[in-house]
Amino acid sequence: MKIVDVKTYSVVYPVQDPFSNGMRWTRQRPFAIVEVITDNGISGWGEGTTVPTRRAIDLNVIGRSPFEHEVIWEGLHSQGTDTGAISAIDIALWDIMGKALDQPICNLLGGAFRDRVQAYATGLFRRERKDPTAALVEEARSYADQGFKAMKMKVGFGPEYDIKNVAAVRRAIGDDILLAVDANCAYDRGSAIAVGQKLAENDLLWFEEPISSDDVEGYIEIRRALKVRISGAEQLRGHRAFRRMLQERALDIVQPDVSICGGFTEFRKIAAMASANHVRVIPHMFGTAIRLAATLHLLANLPDSPRANVPFPALLEYDMSENALRTELAKEPIRHTEGIVTVPQGPGLGIEINRDLLTKYG
Ligand code: CA
Repeated sequence: MKIVDVKTYSVVYPVQDPFSNGMRWTRQRPFAIVEVITDNGISGWGEGTTVPTRRAIDLNVIGRSPFEHEVIWEGLHSQGTDTGAISAIDIALWDIMGKALDQPICNLLGGAFRDRVQAYATGLFRRERKDPTAALVEEARSYADQGFKAMKMKVGFGPEYDIKNVAAVRRAIGDDILLAVDANCAYDRGSAIAVGQKLAENDLLWFEEPISSDDVEGYIEIRRALKVRISGAEQLRGHRAFRRMLQERALDIVQPDVSICGGFTEFRKIAAMASANHVRVIPHMFGTAIRLAATLHLLANLPDSPRANVPFPALLEYDMSENALRTELAKEPIRHTEGIVTVPQGPGLGIEINRDLLTKYG
């Protein structure tokens, strides 16, 4: 089996109700998708943050077998291809390998420890609302009503907003639902520690990206100063970028994103490094149905650590914001039931792509 063509799709979903994290407003959601086509009629789909150039594809991908995914990865990387684009190619290669062997990707990774994954609702962004606190409380209650046992809200908007709204959301959902907060790198060390001390009074599951992803020393200081788990690294690319974060235990939870860090091939290396350093892995996911399916296969394959009677849950980041490319790109959409998501069981990623969506948002 040889790769004969790669098609690239740059799509943009226009957001109807814009939302903000600690850094920026989101009015459009751009996605980079590739379709890798082989000579035996199997094609695979991948999602990254950018698409590779024609030259990079011709030099490193065309004519190779999809089973040479490590060789293709190194070839693209050594010639300067963005890791966000390599991610897309790599995911598509694993989709092809699974389809060729008639196995879901989680089986290629070594098998599924679970076929259902607990999801946490990601939402609770800042929006233009008359009463932002009331809007957040209503949204948090709606997630609890849908059966979610965990959710994450955005912070990083200054102490006044953060302290008031996290407390309001915690009061609204009660003590039994897990609540994480995410500052998207909007704070410096001093603010992260000052605000984090107040936020930690709300029994938080973790405090995500308090500061810039590359400030290893800053993360170490914050982790020592706060009585809450610290998470991050969703933007890091390539396993070596994670090295110091993991070796120096700058994080309690590392959150690689399969479409940013370098696909399945690179995610596995990062997970192994995290395991060696006793850092928990909870993947980041904020993309289309392709990234969602890929993340589910990775979550299926992550062992409980420690393998306790009642283990810390393997959590799927389940994006609740509007995005037709997540909800409609797979012909059979990946949905949650009472906050639980089933890992796709079909070969490869286990999803069939609705090509009309790529035309509609292309
Ligand atoms: Ca995040």
